[in-house]
Amino acid sequence: MPRQNRIKSCKSDHCWLVAQDFSAYCKIHLKMIQSKAFILIQDMRTRLGPRWPDFVNMMRSKADPEDPEQLFVEEFQKILSFFKIKLSATQL
Ligand SMILES: [Zn+2]
Repeated sequence: MPRQNRIKSCKSDHCWLVAQDFSAYCKIHLKMIQSKAFILIQDMRTRLGPRWPDFVNMMRSKADPEDPEQLFVEEFQKILSFFKIKLSATQL
C-alpha cells in the first residue's frame, strides 16, 4: 500500500492555502473564525441567559480531548440545535 502524504487545503471557499495541522482551515481563516467566534459567544451568552453554564459545560464535554480549546464545527452545530439557537448566515 503506497504511503500517502496528503496536504489538506483550507476549508474556506476559494482559499487554497494549506490547512493548519489538526484544523480544517489555514492560519488566516483560523484567525478570522476565532474573532468571529468571540463575537458569536458574546451574543449567545446574552441569548441563553441562565442556561449559559449548561451550554458551556456541554461545549467542554464535546471538545477535542487532545486540545480542549478546539471544538469541531459539527459538534458545535449539534449543541446549538440542542439549545435551539439559530445562527444567521453571517454568523457562520
Ligand atoms: Zn484559508
